Amino acid sequence: MEKDIFCRIASGEIPADIVYEDDELVAFKDVRPQAPIHILIVPRKHISKLDDATAEDAELLGRLMLTAIKVARLIGIAESGYRVIANNGPDAGQEVYHIHFHVLGGRRLGPLG
Ligand code: 5GP
Repeated sequence: MEKDIFCRIASGEIPADIVYEDDELVAFKDVRPQAPIHILIVPRKHISKLDDATAEDAELLGRLMLTAIKVARLIGIAESGYRVIANNGPDAGQEVYHIHFHVLGGRRLGPLG
C-alpha cells in the first residue's frame, strides 16, 4: 500500500519545515498556512483518522495533545493563544488520511464553523 504524505514526512522521505520531533511524533509547518502560525502534529504511527483510534491509542492521543501544547510554547504563542483542531472525515474536510492536530495562532482567530 502506498504511504500517505505524512508517513513520508515522518520518515524523512519528503522534506518539511520541522519544528519539533521525538520517537513518536513530528511537528512541522503546514504548507498552506491558515494563520501566521500553523503547525501540524503528526504521530509516526499510521492511523488514518480519529474514528480509527482505539483504547490502545490512548497514550498516543494524549501525547499528541501534550505535544501541541509544547510546540505552542516553543513557538511563543502560549500566552497570546492558539487553537488545536483535528478534522475527521469528509464533512470536516479531512484532506490527509493520517491523524494530525493543527495548531493555529499568531492572530485573533474567527469563530468555528
Ligand atoms: P486536513 O484537512 O487533512 O485536516 O489537513 C491537512 C493539512 O495538511 C492541510 O492544512 C494541508 O495544507 C497540509 N498539507 C498537505 N500536504 C502537505 C505537505 O506535503 N506538506 C505540508 N507541510 N503540509 C501539507
